[in-house]
Amino acid sequence: MSDSTRQIVTIDGPAGVGKSTVSRGLAHILGFTYLDTGAMYRAIAYGCHSRGCDVSNGDEVAQLLPAFSISLRAPDKPDDDVRVYLNNKEISAFIRTPEMGSLASQVSAHGPVRSLLTSLQQEIGCKGKIVAEGRDTGTVVFPYAAWKFYLDATPENRAQRRVKQLRENGEEADEQNILSMIKQRDTDDKERSLAPLKPAQDAVYIDSTTITAAQVITLMLSYISL
Ligand code: C5P
Repeated sequence: MSDSTRQIVTIDGPAGVGKSTVSRGLAHILGFTYLDTGAMYRAIAYGCHSRGCDVSNGDEVAQLLPAFSISLRAPDKPDDDVRVYLNNKEISAFIRTPEMGSLASQVSAHGPVRSLLTSLQQEIGCKGKIVAEGRDTGTVVFPYAAWKFYLDATPENRAQRRVKQLRENGEEADEQNILSMIKQRDTDDKERSLAPLKPAQDAVYIDSTTITAAQVITLMLSYISL
């Protein structure tokens, strides 16, 4: 493995911990590409759900997979979310809801979904210079990454951040409901048998409960040497 292919930063952690803000910011500073792996699971969930498929049924989901082609494009403004396309149709506006997060968590437990997306992510990262965020980017997708981080915060803190984010976007949000969805997603993501959410053995663990995204980025940069 050459040094350039190892020039990968992985940022894993639970829902609502601020991975996207931190990953986008870090990628911008380093001049790397930002890879939002969760958006890909959300795209599959959206595709399955909009075709009336029961996302908890692995066989049904697997049958649909050959019909999907997923692509990601950089947003127009650096602070915006990555643009997500399913079969060349933009679906970015539909996938970032708490409900789609829960459906994504269900499809992500199926082996064929994980193999498909892991290969796609490895293909995108094959030349290095990426910041990948997700649940298994340091453990499974890029085990050879040069810099690995695990970002954590209490469920209550993550629920508060999500509520603030949704309200800033003009959406309604019930904090108790968001908190119970976050806790459920934590349990599902940590306890599944395939690529469960856990820190890679060589990841730096960062608790972001009481520090800002900018402070997390500064801390991460102190570990990264190009
Ligand atoms: O990060 P995000 O909230 O967009 O991810 C949605 C869901 O997709 C997660 O709850 C998780 O179940 C799944 N996921 C995954 N592996 C990844 C990224 C996301 O299983 N690398």
